[in-house]
Amino acid sequence: MDDIEYSKKQEKDEAAFEALCKRCGACCGRDDEPCSNLAADSGGNYYCKAYDARIGPQTTINGCVFTCVSIREVLKYSLPCPGCGYALEYDSGRCI
Ligand code: SF4
Ligand code: SF4
Repeated sequence: MDDIEYSKKQEKDEAAFEALCKRCGACCGRDDEPCSNLAADSGGNYYCKAYDARIGPQTTINGCVFTCVSIREVLKYSLPCPGCGYALEYDSGRCI
């Protein structure tokens, strides 16, 4: 596999990984105290307004500081919602 093919494979794998998310917003505090970066589109799908810079200190809509971590870290301790698209991957032992 040359560099171009590898790059395409990485893009494809990332797209497939991102597609697992159901955009429910549960892992970003949708039902409690949402992160100030959490937003929803007109179809009711949630997204992060700062996705590329999300990991690290963040603030809720009420001004509480917390640390945004990867979904892998979240799943070590809790299941954000019953249908989280990453939970099955995590439980199966496949790396996410
Ligand atoms: S910064 Fe983290 S917790 Fe906040 S909306 Fe983005 S992904 Fe969710
Ligand atoms: S709980 Fe899971 S499915 Fe819902 S937004 Fe978070 S990562 Fe995506």
